[in-house]
Amino acid sequence: MTNSEFFKQANLIGGTWTAADNGASFDVINPADGEVIGQVPKSGVAETRKAIEAAEAAFGDFRRTTANERAAWLRKMHDVMLDNQAELAQILTMEQGKPLAEANGEIAIGAAYLLWFAEEARRIYGEIVPSPWKDKKVMVNRYPVGVVAAITPWNFPSSMLARKIGPAIAAGCTSVVKPASQTPYSALAWGVIAEKAGLPTGVINILTGSAGEIGGEITSNPLVKKLTFTGSTGVGKILIKQAAETVKKVSMELGGNAPFIVFDDADIDRSIAGAIASKYRNSGQTCVCTNRFFVQAGIYDQFVEKFNTAVNALKVGDGTGEGVQQGPLIDMAAVEKVEELLTDATNTGAKVVAGGKRHSLGGSFFEPTVVTGVKPEMRIAKEEIFGPVSAVIKFDTENQVLAMANDSEYGLACYCYTKDLGRAFRMTDQLEYGLVGINEGIITTPEAPFGGMKESGLGSEGGNRGIDEYLNTQYACIGGLEHT
Ligand code: NAP
Repeated sequence: MTNSEFFKQANLIGGTWTAADNGASFDVINPADGEVIGQVPKSGVAETRKAIEAAEAAFGDFRRTTANERAAWLRKMHDVMLDNQAELAQILTMEQGKPLAEANGEIAIGAAYLLWFAEEARRIYGEIVPSPWKDKKVMVNRYPVGVVAAITPWNFPSSMLARKIGPAIAAGCTSVVKPASQTPYSALAWGVIAEKAGLPTGVINILTGSAGEIGGEITSNPLVKKLTFTGSTGVGKILIKQAAETVKKVSMELGGNAPFIVFDDADIDRSIAGAIASKYRNSGQTCVCTNRFFVQAGIYDQFVEKFNTAVNALKVGDGTGEGVQQGPLIDMAAVEKVEELLTDATNTGAKVVAGGKRHSLGGSFFEPTVVTGVKPEMRIAKEEIFGPVSAVIKFDTENQVLAMANDSEYGLACYCYTKDLGRAFRMTDQLEYGLVGINEGIITTPEAPFGGMKESGLGSEGGNRGIDEYLNTQYACIGGLEHT
């Protein structure tokens, strides 16, 4: 894959692929075999400033392009992605570890976001509001905010950019992107995608390197008008504070602690399929992955038995292997965190009923795991596990499970399985989560808003509101219109 034209090992600044100013670089590791894939620039403040200035320079012309022109570029980028889906998916799996089928799916959904925003570009309507005055018009205009900075995580290294770059281009903004250091290649490939689509130079600038230095410059530089971040709640809080100094618009997609609730009246096989999809996808390393399974007492034993059978059947291996359903974790630190949470749980009364240890494949592979007898106060139920471990909790009543499910500082995704329509609506109304799956374990789609409540984030990506985050609203009062 390192021969692919999409495989770049340089920053893209103002249309030129460049090394770090001092030539420094760092290694990128394939999590499946621990081998070094290559090196990317270790950029800092100086390179970030250049990227921001390139984006600002490009903004002057780009903001004046028509919606049709921007829609056409986005459609071309969509086509480039799908025409090269297999190649882009290979790069993604090589640096991130997820099974190829999932990587292909990630490229496809990233392309779908581009198409969605290509269509949204043409619907950035202003308003003429009924005026309280006979001689004045009340007009509302919407303009691109300017230079957008995007910082992205390693778990969806390609599609997280689609949700940020897509609306930025649609709105007429230019951007500076900093991907996670563990997975820079899928982001750098976006530079090639943009080039192939003929996007003007400087509209997308991508740089890799020191998170602190790049983040510091992005948040303090007054030329950056908006920061969009996807990552942990801890880093999100730091960036919100830093961005306050120059009063930037911020949108934050942060961590989660998703509850998955199975009532006695649920379709059990459907709930098992949803549970597997929502928990073990990407080795349990998604922000919307189930963290806590709440199962009602009447169906508990049956659910655990069927769930264990399904979990034990998952095929673990190198993501490029045939039929593999679970790849490695991103690194050994992730394995250690999972082990720490499991040890805490078993020391305080929980029981491992499937998996429970490092996989015989070695490295950062971990067995798909189920642990029962979990109590809400255990660390495993309070912290984001971010690994292939299901923590199962028994409950008795609807009110009890609602209280437990909402007892978290997070509010991103939740899932609920029931055949009772009234209960489905009662739960939807009362679950304090930005994303609700009723009898569904995977619900993300470009057409719907994606975003969290509480400490899971600010703003939303996708849907018909996703583009608002990239626009300023202006009210213009047009006076002197007296009738003669
Ligand atoms: P992370 O540690 O917060 O890192 C995310 C990004 O922030 C990386 O690019 C990282 O760069 C950068 N970063 C770290 N410290 C920074 C700083 N001081 N200033 C500026 N940038 C900084 O998160 P992660 O481990 O990559 O991702 C997992 C987390 O993301 C989980 O909590 C997950 O729930 C969340 N997530 C949320 C969503 C959502 O839509 N809500 C989606 C996906 C993931 P380096 O890699 O160089 O350190």
